[in-house]
Amino acid sequence: MSLWPRSLFAKSVRRRRPSDAEWPSAAAWKRLHDQVQGRLTPVEFPLSACIHDVEGAACRNLLANIKNPYYVGDQPGLTQTLGWVDGWFTKPSAYVVAAENVGDITAAVNFARENNLRLVVKGGGHSYQGTSNAADSLLVWTRRMHDIAMHDRFVPQGCSGTHAPQRAVTCGAGAIWMQAYDAVTTKAGFYVQGGGCTTVGVAGLVQSGGFGNFSKHYGTAAANLLEAEVVTADGKVRIANACTNPDLFWALKGGGGGTFGVISRVTLRVHELPEFLGGATLQIKASSDDAFRRLLREFVSFYREQLFNDHWGEQAYISPDNLLRISMVSHGLTTEQGKSVWQRFLDRIASSPGAYTVDGTTIIGSIPAQKWWDVEWAKSHRENVFMSDPRPGAGPNDAWWAGDAGQVSWTIYGFESLWLPATLLDDDSQDRLANALFAGSRHEGIGLHFNKGLAGAPHEALAASRDTAMNPHALNAFALAIVADGGGGYPGVAGHEPDVAAARRSRAQIHRCMTELRRVAPAGGAYVSESDFFEDDWQHAYWGGNYARLASIKKKYDPAGLFFVHNGVGSEQWSADGFTKL
Ligand SMILES: Cc1cc2nc3c(=O)[nH]c(=O)nc-3n(C[C@H](O)[C@H](O)[C@H](O)COP(=O)(O)OP(=O)(O)OC[C@H]3O[C@@H](n4cnc5c(N)ncnc54)[C@H](O)[C@@H]3O)c2cc1C
Repeated sequence: MSLWPRSLFAKSVRRRRPSDAEWPSAAAWKRLHDQVQGRLTPVEFPLSACIHDVEGAACRNLLANIKNPYYVGDQPGLTQTLGWVDGWFTKPSAYVVAAENVGDITAAVNFARENNLRLVVKGGGHSYQGTSNAADSLLVWTRRMHDIAMHDRFVPQGCSGTHAPQRAVTCGAGAIWMQAYDAVTTKAGFYVQGGGCTTVGVAGLVQSGGFGNFSKHYGTAAANLLEAEVVTADGKVRIANACTNPDLFWALKGGGGGTFGVISRVTLRVHELPEFLGGATLQIKASSDDAFRRLLREFVSFYREQLFNDHWGEQAYISPDNLLRISMVSHGLTTEQGKSVWQRFLDRIASSPGAYTVDGTTIIGSIPAQKWWDVEWAKSHRENVFMSDPRPGAGPNDAWWAGDAGQVSWTIYGFESLWLPATLLDDDSQDRLANALFAGSRHEGIGLHFNKGLAGAPHEALAASRDTAMNPHALNAFALAIVADGGGGYPGVAGHEPDVAAARRSRAQIHRCMTELRRVAPAGGAYVSESDFFEDDWQHAYWGGNYARLASIKKKYDPAGLFFVHNGVGSEQWSADGFTKL
């Protein structure tokens, strides 16, 4: 069912660009500028400083800051990923509304619709696929909307009588996860399910589905959404929850960002914290290919026996140089419990002397859960886990995991993901799985993200995650395999271009690696936010059997396709740049 007459949108087949005669006049932009109280500005492109003069002071200043995700996040004309070789490269919008309230968002949405403009929404700016930037567009930028409020007894609007009050947190759409963790965990002693990377945006992650360190225990971020306030394409401010606009609510839970409207705030379920959160970091080097194949077989069996439960998340990395790198997190275990689990594996390794060496430092331990995201506490109790925004005026919690630093302002060479079904852990499948991991790792390193496959999660987490738009394969998978590579460089900056030839070679290697894994998981599906820009059959890969329902909700709330993102719901009706209706 459409919400408005077709005639309202029928003539909109090509979005206007600044070079078009019909581009809004200066007077029209001035009216929007006044309506949003001066928060409309043309967008500067920080990289142009280097494109024009790579030796100049402005370029040096940019390059000194560009590996700081907070600096990048503060620029309306930059994105956290700079591009994807042969796919996209970050481009500034023509204008930005730096929204401070839902009224600003509404004004921008109405202006874009009435003037037939390409509209883009950006929160944390972490889209790998470049879906929060587009040249010649109007940008709604939510960075300044980061208020956070805790509730002891939240009931979604329209749900009183059917829904019991529960603890919750409301975050402005521009909040990033570190701000949410600081308020909910460090300050209040509770837990909210967000992303692993602390600088990812709250609204962007929730709409992807969203996995964090401990989602094997709490389910996806989307599964924990209780309510959203959304400006839809008709400029209406709508509440979406289980009782009000439940179809829109479901679509926002994993149907992909920038597709159904602009979210102005979200309210998420808040959980009790366990006493401890912890982890295990170790790496084992095999002395030969044959020993490595046996090591992978041993690890698969050990994972099935000891780690395939909601206590253990995050990653194992299987490297082409016969190195197995464990970087996992634990939920609700003491240091002694964690050590006792891993000792069994280390004993098995030790029983083959000469075949394996434990490289570097092994760390297995737990800390009080409330300290997990406590940057001050970490300075004296943990080894350099956080990096901090060094700029004057930065807050004490403006920090990111050191392990995520390599992805700030990188350019992607290739990136593919695949959910691995838990049936591969069955006794009679473990050989096949280990052999596929070995064969794939001959081409590229494989990351197994156990927290991004929900098999093994508690019943409530599974039930809530099932009631989202994500590909249902996520529920039956023990892990999401991610194979990715990227590098530095700035397209257009002489002498500093990304290495295109290396990128293409790398993309081919990644694909060969994934082909080996697809042999054992042919129908796995891929995670929308962490997947291939060139994904074949993306509708099915990202949403499986949910796509048809998502497409009909898209048609109901955005019949003219005002909201377009690359490989987003309904995008098949548009040209690749989102400017021309096909
Ligand atoms: C370094 C890095 C680490 C990551 N780690 C994880 C991880 O641990 N777990 C995980 O699940 N994912 C992870 N991701 C993927 C990330 O969660 C998604 O890319 C997410 O969509 C980013 O949200 P954002 O607001 O930061 O990005 P943006 O690029 O600003 O937004 C992403 C998409 O959501 C849309 N959007 C943003 N805000 C709104 C809004 N208010 N209303 C409507 N649409 C909106 C944008 O238009 C865009 O299409 C990671 C990405 C990076 C780059």
